[in-house]
Amino acid sequence: MKDDSIRKLDKAKLPAWDEIPLGWALLSEGSDDFKTGGWRSQHPVLDPEKCTSCLFCWIYCPDSAIRVKDGKMAGFDESLCKGCGICSTECPQGAIKMAEGAGALKEGE
Ligand code: SF4
Ligand code: SF4
Repeated sequence: MKDDSIRKLDKAKLPAWDEIPLGWALLSEGSDDFKTGGWRSQHPVLDPEKCTSCLFCWIYCPDSAIRVKDGKMAGFDESLCKGCGICSTECPQGAIKMAEGAGALKEGE
């Protein structure tokens, strides 16, 4: 049987886009306010010998979890890193490997 329920909707009774109640709003840029570290099932491990502090990982990390000190890559923020692995994929030096488990985010593990 063909479902034509969509066609039966009375478009005149539907709210316009600006009449629909607001469901959710982000009031700050980025995700600093969300502690996404609890989502982690994998964790990044930095090899400081390979790292050139190009900061590509800082650019690509969606959760502001790359720490920078004096313009150099300084590890990961435990409370923000959700273990997505993007930093590992994007690092041009292969300096970040992903390991199983939430892990403690320390250098050279
Ligand atoms: S992308 Fe790789 S080489 Fe560049 S700062 Fe991050 S870990 Fe270091
Ligand atoms: S795995 Fe890498 S890119 Fe993903 S949240 Fe953690 S530090 Fe950021």
